[in-house]
Amino acid sequence: MLETTLAGSLPKPAWLAEPDVMWGEWLLDGDALIEGQRDAALAWVKVQEDAGLDIVSDGEQFRRHFAFGFLGAIDGIDWQRMVPMGIRDNRYTIDVPTVTGPVRRITPVHRDSAAFCRAHTERKYKVTLPGPFTICDTIADEHYGDIRDMGMAFAEVLNQEARDLEALGVDVIQFDEPGFTPFPDAVNEWGIAALDKAVEGLRCTTTVHICYGYGIKANIEWKHGLGSEWRQYEEIFPALDRSRIKQVTTECANSRVPMSLLGLLKTKDVLVGAIDVATNDVETPEQVAATLRAAAEFVEPERIVGCTNCGMAPLPRGVAAGKLKALADGAALLRKELA
Ligand code: ZN
Repeated sequence: MLETTLAGSLPKPAWLAEPDVMWGEWLLDGDALIEGQRDAALAWVKVQEDAGLDIVSDGEQFRRHFAFGFLGAIDGIDWQRMVPMGIRDNRYTIDVPTVTGPVRRITPVHRDSAAFCRAHTERKYKVTLPGPFTICDTIADEHYGDIRDMGMAFAEVLNQEARDLEALGVDVIQFDEPGFTPFPDAVNEWGIAALDKAVEGLRCTTTVHICYGYGIKANIEWKHGLGSEWRQYEEIFPALDRSRIKQVTTECANSRVPMSLLGLLKTKDVLVGAIDVATNDVETPEQVAATLRAAAEFVEPERIVGCTNCGMAPLPRGVAAGKLKALADGAALLRKELA
């Protein structure tokens, strides 16, 4: 009851990548880079274990960008044709690569890093992958012509990767879908079907991460304009509850999502975001417990997992470590209370 895990990324050490920014450049290359990524991942696994997290991950130490780190190894994508694209319903613009042919996975992408981390922890181990819907909102298309066809093609590629990760002993495979929140109609139309295809045949725990984004300026400003209640989940949870996915992450810390919406997920584990990633203030265990307790009014504690709202890549290392500890301590408080 009330296990804990993190939603995604963790800051990279200042010797590995440019610190305190979202997609900092690597400061090492070649074999030294791989060695540095492994050292950083090991350090974070240890921090997560010491904090008391039940499900640990590499905190994305092996990739700069949550989606491009996977897509960089996929055939059919032209990285010389970077084009500016307004993403997440035009919330902000980034340069994205272009799909110019059928997308294919030539070789396992995260196998080596996952096998390395798997061998170094006894805890449950989670790997995060970009979701097919969000990939389509983060890439230009000059091949498929229909976004749904492209989404299904990426879902197939992701499924191959996920099956390989499961075979390595990865316990949890999470698909990151920050692109779900602004596009409920398209999510219902094809996004959840693509997700179902991505998890087809998997027996390990599968998770979808649906957030209101990293704590960057564009997202914070967007959230300010969303009104007094954020009801985006209401439109997608009913269909998601009928999907194959086993767990859904939610943004609940300092958010205006009505907790009652979590009650729409009747058959899923609900990962309750109890850590705000848009502030350097470290939560107290009592604050974390209060968020989880509020969620427990609508979801049985057996189905609640304590989590962070989103990834913590841009935060100072010490802040991220403090937040992980607060998360585990807060869940422990509530566990004791409920026992
Ligand atoms: Zn997120």
